[in-house]
Amino acid sequence: MANITCSLCDERACYLRRYSGQRFCRRHFIEYFEKKVKQTMLRYRMLERGERIGVAVSGGKDSLSTLNILSKLAEKLDLDLHAILIDEGIANYRAATIKQAKRFCEELGVPLTTLSFKERFGTALDEAVKLSQRNACTFCGVFRRKLLNDAARELGCDKLATGHNLDDEVQAIVMNYLRGDLERLVRLGIDAGSEQLVPRIKPLMEMPEKEVALYALLSGIPASFEECPYAQDSFRTEVRAMINRLEESNPGIKFSILRGYQKLLPYLKSYQAKALRSCATCGAPSSGERCKACMLLEELTPSA
Ligand code: SF4
Ligand SMILES: [Zn+2]
Ligand SMILES: [Zn+2]
Repeated sequence: MANITCSLCDERACYLRRYSGQRFCRRHFIEYFEKKVKQTMLRYRMLERGERIGVAVSGGKDSLSTLNILSKLAEKLDLDLHAILIDEGIANYRAATIKQAKRFCEELGVPLTTLSFKERFGTALDEAVKLSQRNACTFCGVFRRKLLNDAARELGCDKLATGHNLDDEVQAIVMNYLRGDLERLVRLGIDAGSEQLVPRIKPLMEMPEKEVALYALLSGIPASFEECPYAQDSFRTEVRAMINRLEESNPGIKFSILRGYQKLLPYLKSYQAKALRSCATCGAPSSGERCKACMLLEELTPSA
């Protein structure tokens, strides 16, 4: 950085926001970040006073930063926060992140509920992968989504907050475009409207991943930066690399992708005509006769 002072004071800058040209010192970066997250929550009407909010925590920078900001708002908005952690059963990875999440929840005084694939489904993710040809992320995504919703319902939460950042959102949008998966594309931006699904909020959805990482670091949040051992071979990894290359040469393109998608949403709503039914096996909302979790579980159960 040629000019190394903060745009707002005389302190040394630690971050240049390329798409706006602003430079921030530590204090002003934290202030900017928290203010922008609060504005996002306000704009999308994510919170109501007095609500009970389930917060999905994994021990990573995104979820712990989300919890940190929500806990700063909790008193003012009379929020009742409950952290929810899902233990998928991934050896040499999850145990360390669980420890970090527990520690941080204790620090903030937020109660934590842990649910595991093994206890709830009888199979840890590592075992499921050995029993099937499927990609680990397919099981992980479907089972985690189901358990998070179950936990939020069991705890009586009004909303479920997740740590998805701008990069996660944009990757999901582009992946669904590329696969031509309109159903998932719609689901990303519109609540299914089923009483059985706890509405989801994503307070960091407009914050680039790089900024979330810096926020966690500068705020002293004990987040894990370890990557899941299954992350390497996913389609998402390729899409992420492609979008990051585009952002390098066209600063701000991630925001353009998100805004373009939001403009498209009202037209996509008409596609959401397929009403959700109840899964014939577990009763959870499903677009088919049985939900994806039940179909995957059946694949893992040896037939009698
Ligand atoms: S990368 Fe790991 S944690 Fe993420 S969905 Fe895949 S298996 Fe689950
Ligand atoms: Zn400053
Ligand atoms: Zn089911």
